Amino acid sequence: MAMVKIREILEGCCADQKVTVRGWVYRKREGKELIFLLIRDSTGVIQCTIKKTSPSWNEAQKLTIESSLTLEGTAKEDKRAPGGFEIGAETITIIGLAETFPISKDKSEEFIRDMRHLWLRSRKMNLVMKVRADVLDAARQYFKSQDYTEVSPPMFISAAVEGGSTLFGLKYFDQDLYLTQSSQLYLEILIYSLENVYCIAPSFRAEKSRTIRHLTEYWHIEGEWPFADMNDLMKFEEGLMTHVCQTIGDKCQKEFAELGADIAKLKAVKAPFPRITYKEAIDRLKPKNPQLAWGADLGYEDEKVLAEDFGKPFFVYDYPTEIKAFYCKTYSDHSEVAMSVDMMVPRIGEISTGGAREENKDILTERMKAQGLKPEDYEWYLDLRRYGTVPHVGFGMGLERLLVWMLDLDNIIDAIPFPRTTRRFYP
Ligand code: ATP
Ligand code: MG
Repeated sequence: MAMVKIREILEGCCADQKVTVRGWVYRKREGKELIFLLIRDSTGVIQCTIKKTSPSWNEAQKLTIESSLTLEGTAKEDKRAPGGFEIGAETITIIGLAETFPISKDKSEEFIRDMRHLWLRSRKMNLVMKVRADVLDAARQYFKSQDYTEVSPPMFISAAVEGGSTLFGLKYFDQDLYLTQSSQLYLEILIYSLENVYCIAPSFRAEKSRTIRHLTEYWHIEGEWPFADMNDLMKFEEGLMTHVCQTIGDKCQKEFAELGADIAKLKAVKAPFPRITYKEAIDRLKPKNPQLAWGADLGYEDEKVLAEDFGKPFFVYDYPTEIKAFYCKTYSDHSEVAMSVDMMVPRIGEISTGGAREENKDILTERMKAQGLKPEDYEWYLDLRRYGTVPHVGFGMGLERLLVWMLDLDNIIDAIPFPRTTRRFYP
């Protein structure tokens, strides 16, 4: 008797054959003559029927929601069954009989969040985690196809990337260290050896605001490379985004259908993306938000309004230097503008920030001082400008923000299995 995965049965590979599946009880409905079970494994859910005359009737009666079991029977096509196939069960072996499962339909959002360790078994989380893994694969594929080397930067760091307020400090033996907010500065080191590099790693931000797009720990897809300018940067980012969207659009149709997410928007993503300057963005937003003036940072509401106009991913570039980090390169003939670019998507706003990095040591030192940073804390960073400096660019994209957009999720906490927010760090 073949041990099969539920997906194989649902794909019609085993009709009228004897099969064995291993999994957990997802739902149970008990009649006088017939018990219906929905059994789930990692690949799907299938209906199983147990007749009163079956030798497995007694075991089936004992089964509770989330009990683990092995079930043998005959797979058959049945139009009435969800998924179009079912198993007529013959033998049931209970592996772990579950106590009363705490999660049921009437439970509150809050309660379900406290039960995250059990909620991850839900169809929704199972599907989201699969799409997440496929997005990671697709991103890596793209970087590899463009000759980028994956690298592993540190999470413990001694100097803040952009200074202050959203930095987590920690005791490192008897020293004060931080958790990294971005791997950018380390990628900048590595381009001098490997040239095109990327990493997919956690970033930590002590974000006090509770929004649908902020976590305190998120996964950051970052790339950095030399001998490149803003145009190269935007081309790379739109290439990456297009590849990921097209790949997921082909590969994850079942997952999107079951989650009720719109996959057509992914298939519609094609390079080149619209590009507007920050100044154009302000001009567009002014009629709706008259207080907005050149120099202001775009807020979530502003970004959302802009993104509604486009209805697809687009770039906003050339931001005011004043609101950008010290390493952002500025235009030599108008230094009030920085070579920084955000990719934005509908409903979420910003999903990536990138830019050209200042490669001149003296300008960089001035920028640090102007922002209240101590150049002596960044000696190694300045060394990169002392020894064979090159023009270079890079970007960082939040994996979970990307997933919130792709999967039409209501909240970023569902884009990661174990979300960390101001109030949540359990389990
Ligand atoms: P925001 O202004 O939305 O807080 P940011 O401009 O501070 O974001 P960056 O430093 O530009 O963020 O980080 C690069 C990318 O990392 C962002 O475009 C976003 O996709 C993601 N990101 C940043 N902060 C968070 C967070 N707290 N939770 C999840 N993703 C984040
Ligand atoms: Mg940003």
